[in-house]
Amino acid sequence: MTLSGTFALGRLFGVVVRIHFSWLFIFALIAWSLASSWLPSQYVGWSRGQYWAVGVIGSALLFVCVLIHELSHSLEAIRRGRKVRSITLFFLGGVSEIEDESKSAGEEFWVSIVGPLTSLALGALFGLMYLNFRSGPGQIAALLQYLMVVNLAIGVFNLLPAFPLDGGRVLRALVWRATDSQERATRVASLTGSVLGFGLIGLGIYFVFTNNLVTGIWMVFIGWFIQSAASSVRRDSAERVVVSGRTVGEAMDESFPQVPPGMTIQTLIDEHISRGFERAYLVVLGDTFQGLITATDVRKIPMERRDSTWVSAVMTKSENVITLPPEAPLEEGLRVLAQRNIHQLVIMDSGAPVGLLTRAGVLRVMEVAELLPREGESEGPGRS
Ligand SMILES: [Zn+2]
Repeated sequence: MTLSGTFALGRLFGVVVRIHFSWLFIFALIAWSLASSWLPSQYVGWSRGQYWAVGVIGSALLFVCVLIHELSHSLEAIRRGRKVRSITLFFLGGVSEIEDESKSAGEEFWVSIVGPLTSLALGALFGLMYLNFRSGPGQIAALLQYLMVVNLAIGVFNLLPAFPLDGGRVLRALVWRATDSQERATRVASLTGSVLGFGLIGLGIYFVFTNNLVTGIWMVFIGWFIQSAASSVRRDSAERVVVSGRTVGEAMDESFPQVPPGMTIQTLIDEHISRGFERAYLVVLGDTFQGLITATDVRKIPMERRDSTWVSAVMTKSENVITLPPEAPLEEGLRVLAQRNIHQLVIMDSGAPVGLLTRAGVLRVMEVAELLPREGESEGPGRS
């Protein structure tokens, strides 16, 4: 998962640590709820400033603990020879951006379970320190008690066997080991993710109606997050099955619309876009491919300038257009579309455009594949 709206904090063990802006909000929310409700309910008689100081420090140390949890996943992955690009902390914890999928069930198991184990160990450590410092200054005891509770909670919550939580990945590894099928394992773990997500939403709604408004809203929100992440994993894995072994050439649109570079934007709108809307037009002069112009490019040109602006002035020039050859694997095409966040890829064969790859085109291939499975893909009776 790549989030936008993040900033980099620095590097730890070669891994870039990024923070999503939602973390600033949650940092303030946790400090506020510690200072204004949890601490005063447990420790009476402090000054307002003391409650706030402990609240802010507690929130900052929670941040460090979540970072340690995430770092443990990353270090275990690195130890097993995988590349970890970054850790991003956002409102519900963190995500590590680990390159490629696990190669084996065992690897998936250990990289996943080390996180919750780390949190539980941190919780136990703070618990021991709390037992020793309980009779000391109240502020330190309060911090230790809070960090114990919150780390144990993070450990237990993440062990829930529901994808995309760590426990769901552990479950996936176990099913993978048992059935020898990563696809089936993903299906099982993401289904339990959806069930747990809907369960949390239901429980949250119950809390909302029984005077626990804030807890209820949080549960609905977390439930919704887990359920949507689980169902998108399920969709992706179904997509991967169909996509694997195919090339972009099989999924591209060969009848792509073309316009000349000397056309005005107004003519492009009148004669092409308003007649049969296409998201993108290849700009071609004679036999040479000059660039690509999209509906988004056109929208940027103010109404009054559309009559005097040429397509060539607005298009993405051919040298900057992202292209792939027709024999490239379809997986790569989808990855480029997703990573660059673009809607189409130009497919080039020996210097000339031969097609456009769009997500809609890939979806069509998937629909056809469901009707006409290729040999070896269906579980039905084989052809003789
Ligand atoms: Zn984790």
